[in-house]
Amino acid sequence: MVELKRNPTRAVRIGSITIGAGHPIAAQSMTATHTTDVAATVAQANALHAAGAGVVRIAVDSRSDAAALPAIRAGTPANLAIDLQENYRLAVDVAPHVDKLRYNPGHLYHHEPTKPWQEKVRFIADVAASNDCAMRVGVNCGSVDPAKKEKFAEDDSIGPMLASALEHCELLDSLGFTRYAVSLKDSDPKKVIEVNRRFAEARPDVPLHLGVTEAGMPPDGIIKTRIAFEQLISRGIGDTVRVSLTVPNADKPEEIAAAQAILADIAAGRVRSVVDYGLSSLNIISCPSCSRVENEAFIELAKQVKEMTAYAKDHAITIAVMGCRVNGPGETDDADLGLWCGPTHVNLKKRSAELGAFPYDAILPKLREELDKLIGGRA
Ligand code: SF4
Repeated sequence: MVELKRNPTRAVRIGSITIGAGHPIAAQSMTATHTTDVAATVAQANALHAAGAGVVRIAVDSRSDAAALPAIRAGTPANLAIDLQENYRLAVDVAPHVDKLRYNPGHLYHHEPTKPWQEKVRFIADVAASNDCAMRVGVNCGSVDPAKKEKFAEDDSIGPMLASALEHCELLDSLGFTRYAVSLKDSDPKKVIEVNRRFAEARPDVPLHLGVTEAGMPPDGIIKTRIAFEQLISRGIGDTVRVSLTVPNADKPEEIAAAQAILADIAAGRVRSVVDYGLSSLNIISCPSCSRVENEAFIELAKQVKEMTAYAKDHAITIAVMGCRVNGPGETDDADLGLWCGPTHVNLKKRSAELGAFPYDAILPKLREELDKLIGGRA
């Protein structure tokens, strides 16, 4: 297991769970039923809760959705969150029945356009505080505050998201409301990584909810999300996560199972992208393996690499062992030494330089030779 370091975020209680401040990273999901169909929504909230969801989000887009909440609340022990859409005043109707309110800074402009956004946020924060609710400031690449967009170059999608999130944190803090988390979501995992890294650098104290929007169907949707989470969680960033998948309604708990699998893999060093855990010791990572593995010997090899390299444990060197030629060649570029496995040979790399392809039974001595050189060169 890798000792995952975590950012020193504030503790934020959401119903019966707490995120931040070193608490376990909570997996979240969302119901996909019609909220007014109370029986179906309760059944799905319970299925997600049973799968281990720390928080279950319910879509509330109208007064009739809001009117269904008391019955839903009565039917499930899940911690419930809702999204406030354009109509932020709906907060008053929903807050008594849920544990968390999420608002999107980019949505506060539509209703009452002459009223300053600060007043609207103050209203939501007051409602949250008086109903024992946590909050999430949910910034989304597709709906960024237009006033922020104007201030950045057209091709800079990260600057406006970041500025908007930071501005809202500042306001909430000044109002004395600190029981909130922030999310910065995009459909491009690379942007998710960058925007969350930059936010965490500016506000290491604010808990982050991680997610990649419109990730799509499994397995691709899970892979996209996994890569973003690997790069963030390995660096201590992230207190709660959602894996958004396009799956049939009955399969929604798959989102929780996927999130839990990704979190367990990151903690065990089973990663698809080369991850720097910020360690000052040897970092051996191997991909979690999937149907693309062409030679089962990969699994055994990953184990042998771990054992053989144990002598180098005090050196800050990253060795990556990847299971296939689809992902292996690209993903090993960032490792000090990389191995990617083909059907009959294992390819050895030193960062992006190729050192050759070797039969499975000849790779370990070759790796040892290169590792010794690397250690010698650093001495
Ligand atoms: S490196 Fe290849 S085998 Fe390993 S998880 Fe990625 S795609 Fe699958």
